[in-house]
Amino acid sequence: MRFMSTPYHAAVRAIRMLPLAAALAASAASIQAAQPVQPPAQVRTQAPGFYRMMLGAFEVTALSDGTVAVPLDQLLRNPPEDTASRLAQAHLGTRAETSINAFLIHTGSHLALVDAGAGDLFGKDGGRLLDSIRAAGYRPEDIDTVLLTHIHADHSGGLTRQGKRMFPAADIRVDQRDVDFWLNPANAGKVAKEERHAFADAEAALRPYIEAGRLKPFDGETELLPGIRAVAGAGHTPGHSLYLVESEGKKLVLWGDLIHAQDVQFAKPGVTIRFDVDAAAAARQRLARMDEAARQGWLVAAAHIGFPGIGHVRRSGDGYLWQPVRYSLEGLRR
Ligand SMILES: [Zn+2]
Repeated sequence: MRFMSTPYHAAVRAIRMLPLAAALAASAASIQAAQPVQPPAQVRTQAPGFYRMMLGAFEVTALSDGTVAVPLDQLLRNPPEDTASRLAQAHLGTRAETSINAFLIHTGSHLALVDAGAGDLFGKDGGRLLDSIRAAGYRPEDIDTVLLTHIHADHSGGLTRQGKRMFPAADIRVDQRDVDFWLNPANAGKVAKEERHAFADAEAALRPYIEAGRLKPFDGETELLPGIRAVAGAGHTPGHSLYLVESEGKKLVLWGDLIHAQDVQFAKPGVTIRFDVDAAAAARQRLARMDEAARQGWLVAAAHIGFPGIGHVRRSGDGYLWQPVRYSLEGLRR
């Protein structure tokens, strides 16, 4: 027999249970008496807009300037018939929310920013870059070099706000062909009429740096800093440049605006967009660079691929496939 069942033992058990019963009764009472707990208001801000990784000895930080809804149904040229279903497969409508990314490269001896976001030129859709730089642990005035992939509002607009240089210690490096094109309003007839604001935007962004002697154009393929080379990538704009970054044998190529619609143009690199000054050249450039990145296994970083916009390219069927980097702490202080 497991329990003694004399009246004595039954009484002892009942006495031992008493404190527990009392406690249960008390807690039931307190649950009834407590006010329902209200959670605080939803926070509704995004995580700080940076993502960091090491490339050999170089520290690379992707920076978000924000996102902008791009009406791809109106802007893509020669889109495949299944464009809407490709976007639907990515759970997107034809107005696809598109990242505006910039990249900060600390080489050990230089702190270089690749592209500068939209500043005030995209309204509330851009202009977060300075906050992202600070969240990432640096100050805009720490940056000694800004490398522009090209002179369009979402890449150069953030250089200047209300006429003031946002990167007062930086030289601005950009291919001479883009300077010659965008700072000369006589070229307005060479772009779609909806894109002609780009000439005034370029003037507003660059004039303060020209006056300070800080605009330093380069000519095509050039080693700009130790480990960072400009590579000619004309098509999207006349002086559109890629930057090839190399440290300890590891390579990253910054593509700028080689691609705008990742859910369409990886599979179909021949699809172009209204922003291209020379659409045929832009398409050739895209195909060649996707092929290069896939063959070489280089890391790629792009301005309008979903933040952080860093990953690898793989061949897939007749086209290519994007493999975004995974969240990683490798090589970083924990
Ligand atoms: Zn762009």
